[in-house]
Amino acid sequence: CFCQLSGKIDECTCNIDTVDHFNNVKVYPRLKSLLLKDFFRFYKVNLKRPCPFWSDDSKCAMRYCHVEPCLAHEIPEGLKGATKDNNSQKTHLQTSPADKYARDQNEGCTSQHNTLDYLNKTLSEKAQKDIQLWNAHDDAQDNFCEIDENDEEAEYVDLLLNPERFTGYAGASAHRIWKTIYLENCFRPKRSFNFNPYIQSAKLNELCLEERVFYRAISGLHASINTHLCSNYLLSESNGLSLANPKGKWGPNLEEFQKRFSPDTTNGEGPNWLRNLYFVYLLELRALAKAAPYLESEEYYTGNDPNDWDTQMAMKDLLNVIKSFSDHFDESTMFRNTEQAEKLKYEFKQHFRNITKIMDCVGCDKCRLWGKLQIQGLGTALKILFSGKLDNVANNIKLDSHNKKEFQLSRNEIVSLVNAFGRLSNSVYKIDDFRQILR
Ligand code: FAD
Repeated sequence: CFCQLSGKIDECTCNIDTVDHFNNVKVYPRLKSLLLKDFFRFYKVNLKRPCPFWSDDSKCAMRYCHVEPCLAHEIPEGLKGATKDNNSQKTHLQTSPADKYARDQNEGCTSQHNTLDYLNKTLSEKAQKDIQLWNAHDDAQDNFCEIDENDEEAEYVDLLLNPERFTGYAGASAHRIWKTIYLENCFRPKRSFNFNPYIQSAKLNELCLEERVFYRAISGLHASINTHLCSNYLLSESNGLSLANPKGKWGPNLEEFQKRFSPDTTNGEGPNWLRNLYFVYLLELRALAKAAPYLESEEYYTGNDPNDWDTQMAMKDLLNVIKSFSDHFDESTMFRNTEQAEKLKYEFKQHFRNITKIMDCVGCDKCRLWGKLQIQGLGTALKILFSGKLDNVANNIKLDSHNKKEFQLSRNEIVSLVNAFGRLSNSVYKIDDFRQILR
């Protein structure tokens, strides 16, 4: 079977079958129940943002593309802005520390009668120094994504009611998105043909490590999305279809999977695309392990104490498993030993940010929802990998995540990271299902 992949995963230090076993036995079942919890179930997203690159051809008419946002009463209280208490270990910073400082000061302003005195006081040397420090801190934050969370038009979506699956989105609009991502926003070998969106694996060696990582991560995500649509395919339509809740028989479509990944139909590239999926799996797994101290101290607040406690425990359990398997991708080898490292890192981030914007051009709401979530999850993983203070000497993970001023993740970043990893874990599991069917 072409999907009976074996051998070492590129740029990593472990084999495909080791990941298969680790994921299918240890990670997948844990994630499956964790992602049912309210904290991870509700994702805030703006699906109405217009495409910034070309006139919108995305008036989605396909019934399977429909996304139903949550009604106010369906959203857990804790997600509507209520926080546990003001002294809680951590309330998510929706704004930067500098903004918060300014806001606190503004609140103080209203009770000050002598504005001039007040301004003099607040702009004292110490305050200015603080602001400088915070600004520097903000600049240092390696954000790879445009954040939707604070967008006025963003709405909560229940991910369980809007599962990622076959939607029928295809043709020119879908191709334009992938083509723009690969041709204009991935690094490419100098002599690659421009009409071919994918890069032949043999040519990847012409790229430097960081550029290869970028391409593999995007290609792995693409492979994962396409694996999902094959594993959750509309097998037959039953009566009683309604726009919001289309019924039908959903399940794995082996023929579709073969068409998309067999070497015969993909110029030999299909299995390489699947290998890239394993690569991005290990990359995100590494990010989760690196952020583990931070994620372990998170409250997962939704306003329902017993549920939030369960979520904390389930997350700790998952992180323990993940930490035991986190040494297979080593980000400390990236952006080093080259005079161009800073420039390359900057370009890497810009390319990625652009891809997050391209998601607003996806012409199917369901695909846009899951595309945005998975790209934000990957962006969060990159932020974790490249904004921590890595102890290069011991080559171990040292992200000072107890110091929340040093490093912050918003709720949406956490939700997208864990859900995106959940999607990759699901793909690895489903590929194994296809292997069983083929056997
Ligand atoms: P496409 O998948 O559109 O690929 C275009 C070309 O890219 C291929 O011809 C090939 O040359 C190359 N290519 C393919 N795979 C890879 C890879 N892994 N790495 C490198 N190059 C590759 N459809 C759904 O049914 N459900 C969804 O949830 C969904 N979500 C989507 C999310 C996004 C962000 C996008 C852009 C599309 C989504 N789609 C979804 C559509 C789906 O991904 C395909 O575009 C569509 O099914 C058409 O497939 P295709 O065979 O024409 O090739």
